[in-house]
Amino acid sequence: MESCIFCKIIKKGIPNFSVNESKNFLAFLDINPRTKGHVLIIPKKHYTNLTDFPSSLAKELIEFSQGTAKKVLKAVKTADFNFSINNGKNAGQEVFHAHFHIIPRFNDDKLAHWPKSHSDKEMLKRLAEEIKKA
Ligand code: 5GP
Ligand code: ZN
Repeated sequence: MESCIFCKIIKKGIPNFSVNESKNFLAFLDINPRTKGHVLIIPKKHYTNLTDFPSSLAKELIEFSQGTAKKVLKAVKTADFNFSINNGKNAGQEVFHAHFHIIPRFNDDKLAHWPKSHSDKEMLKRLAEEIKKA
């Protein structure tokens, strides 16, 4: 879809911080991370959210998410994470291209947004490289 920011990321039209890729999915760092290593998993094809996401992709999604989570958790040194999807405006969905959040969790993190200094683009690039190698 022309106006969709995540479709643009898929087409490499805008910068992203990709960490993993499969036939039908891409994983990249969230630009406004809720915790260190917050990753989004998106289908390469445009769907709105879980309501029109095809169940034929479910197996690949789970396997890809497990593989990506392992790498992320290793890189940010924790074993815990949330795996979630917001469906619709009132559920907190801001980008209407289906995406699944992997949010690493740390002792007493309170799921706060990082201070701005932790959203530094160079830092995000380095972290993406670390996760790719993990
Ligand atoms: P939602 O609230 O729709 O479930 O989550 C959308 C997420 O996408 C937010 O966490 C937001 O920070 C992230 N996001 C929005 N635009 C961009 C972008 O251009 N690049 C990246 N890497 N993340 C984005
Ligand atoms: Zn899209």
